[in-house]
Amino acid sequence: MDMDTDTDAFVKLKGVRISSLDDDDDQEPVNIDDEDENDDDDDDDEEPEPATLGFFEKPKDEWMLYRQCFPSKAGGVPAWLDPVNLPSGRSFMCGICGEPLQFLLQVYAPIEKESTFHRMLYVFMCLSMKCLLRDQHEQWKRLPEKPSRSVKVFRCQLPRINPFYSSEPPKCDGSDKPSGSGAVLCDWCGTWKGDKLCSSCRIGRYCSEKHQSMHWRSDHKITCQQLKISSVCASNRMGTSVESHKVASNTLWPEFSIIIDDESEYNTDMCEGNALATSLISRNKNDETMDSLLGIFQGDDDKKSWAYFQERIAKAPEQVLRYYRNTSARPIWPVSSGRPSKLDIPKCSYCGGSLCCEFQILPQLLYYLGVDNEADSLDWATIVVYACEASCEGSVAYKEEYAWVQLYSSSTTLR
Ligand SMILES: [Zn+2]
Ligand SMILES: [Zn+2]
Ligand SMILES: [Zn+2]
Ligand SMILES: [Zn+2]
Repeated sequence: MDMDTDTDAFVKLKGVRISSLDDDDDQEPVNIDDEDENDDDDDDDEEPEPATLGFFEKPKDEWMLYRQCFPSKAGGVPAWLDPVNLPSGRSFMCGICGEPLQFLLQVYAPIEKESTFHRMLYVFMCLSMKCLLRDQHEQWKRLPEKPSRSVKVFRCQLPRINPFYSSEPPKCDGSDKPSGSGAVLCDWCGTWKGDKLCSSCRIGRYCSEKHQSMHWRSDHKITCQQLKISSVCASNRMGTSVESHKVASNTLWPEFSIIIDDESEYNTDMCEGNALATSLISRNKNDETMDSLLGIFQGDDDKKSWAYFQERIAKAPEQVLRYYRNTSARPIWPVSSGRPSKLDIPKCSYCGGSLCCEFQILPQLLYYLGVDNEADSLDWATIVVYACEASCEGSVAYKEEYAWVQLYSSSTTLR
């Protein structure tokens, strides 16, 4: 990791904490239960296996996030690995409200195999907390029932020789160019295929009626007229590359690079770290102290999970992602209740094989993305992404994988 920016980020975070949590300065650290004897579930007594951690960093240059640089990134628009055969039909919509999903993050995770020379995992979610609450019931559904999810994960992979990129590694100096252009994207979200045309100017392109009407209300009502009389010829508008695509939506999340580092690099200074972790994790309940957040957890197991979760996170409190594939490390669950058993994780819907835990997204991410603290704002404790262990080819470019979303507790969010 670049130490300078790391330090900067750390300083900034502390600044945020001081300005937003003035009242909590005298707050006691969470009471960590030292007695392990009832703990048959976690390996608290063993030295835990380190994970690979992901951190947010502001991209130094825009091109770092272009698809030809194979970025791990969050916010903004996705850098589609296969820029042509994007998810379509109902697969890019929230299974509950039917609105197009918003891009959360993508992780570049190639596997040393010809078919997975390039490999990217994408996470999308609906902005509605109502949908996420209903999603909680959907994620328990098993075949033959088809769950309607508001959080979706897609996997895309390409061999080294492919139509979209050079077989040589990118130079990552801004000079890399993709081979060919991608699909035309929606003018509003810049995320999904824009295969619906504005019937008036025949230039505006949208993924859905919803985004067409949002663009119309925003400013297309006026620009539509101008486009109609200007000499711009719709037929000139071939596929645009992501980098030149203007996105009208102002509700996309801010963009970050995700940089990775090994957890074993981070050792302690627990006192300061713990306070920072607390401030980040509890950002969702700004007027509640940690003690009252602990109070809502039903049993000792939840309290113990929460304390352990905090203790692990405190080693590197700015982490937003924990990557596990190919390690024996396992996700850490903030809450003990509402975590899946092995049987709750479905089989790969393409090859029927097992899914393995690929990575875990932490709630600190909501803080960085500037998600509000309102009662109906998006909020979750963790999202764990499971992907096909064999990383099979499947029948489509973007294969839907599985996300397990854990909320803090149903009682805090069902109001
Ligand atoms: Zn929804
Ligand atoms: Zn759209
Ligand atoms: Zn128009
Ligand atoms: Zn599979």
